[in-house]
Amino acid sequence: MGSRPGPPGVDPERPLDVVVIGAGQSGLAVAYYLRRAGFAPHRDVVVLDANERPGGAWQHLWPSMRLFSPPSFSSLPGWMMPAADTDYPPATHVVDYLARYEQRYDLPVLHGHPVTSVTRADDDLSGLLLVSTAGAADHPASSWHARTVVSATGTWGRPFVPRYPGIESFAGRQWHSADYRGPEPYAGRRVVIVGGGNTAAQLLAEISLVAETTWVTLRPPKFLPDDVDGRVLFDVATARRRALDAGERDPGGVAGLGDVVMVESVRDARDRRVLEAEAMFERITPTGIEWGDGSSQEADVILWCTGFRPDLPHLAPLGLRRDGTHPATTGTQAIDEPRLHLVGYGDWTGPASATLIGVGRTAREAVREIATDLARPGITPR
Ligand code: FAD
Repeated sequence: MGSRPGPPGVDPERPLDVVVIGAGQSGLAVAYYLRRAGFAPHRDVVVLDANERPGGAWQHLWPSMRLFSPPSFSSLPGWMMPAADTDYPPATHVVDYLARYEQRYDLPVLHGHPVTSVTRADDDLSGLLLVSTAGAADHPASSWHARTVVSATGTWGRPFVPRYPGIESFAGRQWHSADYRGPEPYAGRRVVIVGGGNTAAQLLAEISLVAETTWVTLRPPKFLPDDVDGRVLFDVATARRRALDAGERDPGGVAGLGDVVMVESVRDARDRRVLEAEAMFERITPTGIEWGDGSSQEADVILWCTGFRPDLPHLAPLGLRRDGTHPATTGTQAIDEPRLHLVGYGDWTGPASATLIGVGRTAREAVREIATDLARPGITPR
């Protein structure tokens, strides 16, 4: 076993009750409730994070990116996100909030510890899981025995690009929104932006100021009314999950209401008439894209704003049964491995759990179950 980092006085050979993988908003919310359930930092719980610095995926977002809800509707449990200079703060505001959140609750986060695998320590299905990390610059490889593992690794590490005929033949550049840092590399080019969500709309708004843009979407984009922001997405996702859980008719998700939040830059793009979407193309050619009717568009760049998938390669050794694109779960608990919980990946791990405001409730439920399974008293009222 490699050495284990941690404060002096903690027995490195003693199994932990919980190892949380990922210290973005999801991992921090889980760690917060674990503390409230009496799990001692470092002695009972650690949070291992691949990033060298706090802030989860938010530290990688482009500088002009803005939250789609005000701070009071973008908060983790316990402590409200401080107000910012603007109603819809930038990603750096969230990074700062998450860094302070870690400190405020003295959460046992170890940065620079990318987990490579979670395996079963032996054949005893009520025994321990083994969490292994890769060595990094200042950190030796390490491994940790745990009674329970919470995976909270988000989706940022797995950008998704759909396969289209001819995709390899394209002679221009293909980028994903995960690569986006600003409009400069697009200036003066012919840019095809693919995707019908908020990211596509916001990047289109920005890039169209410096480049010739074509927007293509699978379905005609739906825009929320100007006076509605991300708060409503949370309410609708919650109502839908409740209805489905109660066996009622599907009331429709946020897509029934509109997908795109009309933040200022997107409203401006609408006024400039660049928010006009074309149908999805059928194939990619060396010089651009081609639709089914034979019409075409030349392009220098294709920018895929086509989302992400759960970032879960570390769970591969567990051989979990899948439900579509993700492991099968009941709530957050993996059906094939009850010692494993998955938090924050999307509606399949809890309504709106992939949002700042939504993950708290899911984290609380997960910790309640973990405390019960480990025969702990549960979350204490503050
Ligand atoms: P992440 O923030 O991705 O954190 C996961 C952490 O796990 C990272 O620190 C990573 O280093 C670590 N990790 C990954 N793999 C490993 C491993 N193998 N070992 C150890 N550590 C690992 N939500 C809102 O509420 N409001 C918004 O306005 C909003 N806007 C968004 C705009 C964009 C462009 C995007 C992409 C998302 C937006 N979201 C928004 C959605 C959501 O809040 C984020 O996706 C959020 O980052 C998810 O948090 P997380 O903690 O689950 O994952």
